[in-house]
Amino acid sequence: MQQPDFSPLTSKNPARGLYGLLACLCFLCLLSVHLPPDLPDHEGPIGTLIIDPGHGGKDPGAVGATAYEKDIVLAVAQKLRDRLQETYPSMRVVLTREDDTFIPLHERGAKALEAKGDFFLSLHCNGMRNKSKRGAETYILGVNPGQENYNTIIAENEAILFEENYQDVYGDMDPSTPEGFIYFRLLKIVFRQESSRLAELIQKEFKLRGRIDRGVKQAPFVVLYQSGMPAVLAEMGFITNPEEERFLVSDSGQQVIAEALFQAIRGYNQSFATQEDPIRGKNE
Ligand SMILES: [Zn+2]
Repeated sequence: MQQPDFSPLTSKNPARGLYGLLACLCFLCLLSVHLPPDLPDHEGPIGTLIIDPGHGGKDPGAVGATAYEKDIVLAVAQKLRDRLQETYPSMRVVLTREDDTFIPLHERGAKALEAKGDFFLSLHCNGMRNKSKRGAETYILGVNPGQENYNTIIAENEAILFEENYQDVYGDMDPSTPEGFIYFRLLKIVFRQESSRLAELIQKEFKLRGRIDRGVKQAPFVVLYQSGMPAVLAEMGFITNPEEERFLVSDSGQQVIAEALFQAIRGYNQSFATQEDPIRGKNE
C-alpha cells in the first residue's frame, strides 16, 4: 500500500504542500511565543537570591533544649541553595555566611548589595519563654503599633549588641525601642509589594506542608532594611517548643522547610511570567 505523503515540500498535491508549510510556520511561531530564547531558566525576577542564615559564631540566636538557632538556619540555607541550583543553573544563590561565623547585621546587608541581589531571604527560628508557642511566620519590613511580637523583634535585632562598635555603625537609631519605629515607617513602603508577595507564598507553602500558619507580619528588623532590596525574614518554627525543636533539627524537617521555601521562590518567579496571582491563583 502506498504511504500517504505528508511532507509539505515534496507533496504532489500543491494545496496539501502549502497547508503543510503553513502548519510548520505556525508551529515555529508558537514555539517562539512559549519558549523565548532569552528567557533564563529561573523564569522570573529573582536571578540572584541572597540567603541569610541568621546569627552564627558567638551569637547562637534562640536556644532550645539541645539545639542552637544558628545551626538550624545554616543547614536549611544550604539545602535551599542546593535545591535551587539543581533546578535553576542560571540562578545565583549567595549565602551571607557559609559556616559558623559571626557576621554583623550591617555586613549582611552590604554583602547582599555587593552581590547585586534581587531578593534577600533571612532565615531564623523563634524562641519564647512560653514553650507551648509553635508555628511559622514570615516578616516584611514595617510597623504595627502595639504589636504582640515585640519580643521577637527585640530578640532578632539584639544581634547588634554582639558587635563591638554598634553605636558607631547604627548611630542613634535604637532598633529595640518604640521610638525607632518612626524611622522604619518611611522605609516600609519601599519594596513592600514584592516583599509581601514572597512572604505570602512562603506561608502558603508552609501551610501546605502541615506547618502551623502564624501569618505574614510586619516588623522593623534591622537586617530587612540594611539589604536595600525586597526582603523577607522567615521564622521557621519555635526552637523552644519540644516538638518543633525535634522537627527543626531533623534532616527530614529541614528538607520540608527548604522545599517550602524553594516552591515559594519558584511560584514568585513564575507569577511574573504568567501574571497570575500566586496566592489566589487568578489573574491580577
Ligand atoms: Zn534569629
